[in-house]
Amino acid sequence: MTDNGKLFLHKSGDMHTQYGFVKAEIIENSKPGTVVKTNTGSEMTVLEAGFLDLYKKMKRGAQIIPLKDIGKIIAETGMSKKSVVLDAGSGSGAVCCFAANIAKKVYTYEIRDDFAGIVKKNIDFLGLKNVVMRKKDIYDGISEKNIDIMILDLPEPWKVIPHALKAVKVGGYIVSYSPTIPQVSDFVEEVRRTKGFVHLKTTETIEREWDIEGRKIRPKSQPIGHSGFMSFVRRI
Ligand code: SAH
Repeated sequence: MTDNGKLFLHKSGDMHTQYGFVKAEIIENSKPGTVVKTNTGSEMTVLEAGFLDLYKKMKRGAQIIPLKDIGKIIAETGMSKKSVVLDAGSGSGAVCCFAANIAKKVYTYEIRDDFAGIVKKNIDFLGLKNVVMRKKDIYDGISEKNIDIMILDLPEPWKVIPHALKAVKVGGYIVSYSPTIPQVSDFVEEVRRTKGFVHLKTTETIEREWDIEGRKIRPKSQPIGHSGFMSFVRRI
């Protein structure tokens, strides 16, 4: 990592970066915390790659749910090492892999072959052993029962509600993540029509990063982008 927080991942061979290169044997023989110099004299600190370091280097296909929203989903559902999670669609596998690092087991549904391939690569890259991949259309049904937490990031999440009634255990949660309000509305209306579910709330999380440099202490100037709305539902 550079002193401005830029992260480079070393797997094998010499590490080439925009700040110059470092020879493989120098990195491999350095303890975490050691400062090494690139051939052009830039300093980098050697760190052991943790889950988040690898997560940030995952392959991307579909648009992923950002960390600020993943954090909210985990907090609001109380996800833990006892949780059995179902996630659809897998997309790039960001939610799937983040959940698998916390939960007991994750089932992930993806309809597209190309995305399913990316997710498999990401699962292997992160060394996760508790993920079951289902290459199928979740609107056709769900094979699992006793799910504690279901996370939906789909164009038409309301189509999953009839199947979720059988798949999610009483007391379990559904979180539906949608970028637009018409999707939220159709989803919540379907939840309200279905006996056995209660809509807890719909929220969005706005994160604002600040510059802290001398007297320039103010919100960063880049615009705040929109990600998605989160609707939280409980099976009763
Ligand atoms: N939450 C994911 C991104 C999901 S993008 C992440 O963080 O990485 C939405 C995904 O849903 C796409 O990959 C799309 O192919 C998949 N999808 C759309 N309809 C589906 C369906 N009916 N069944 C399963 N997957 C579906």
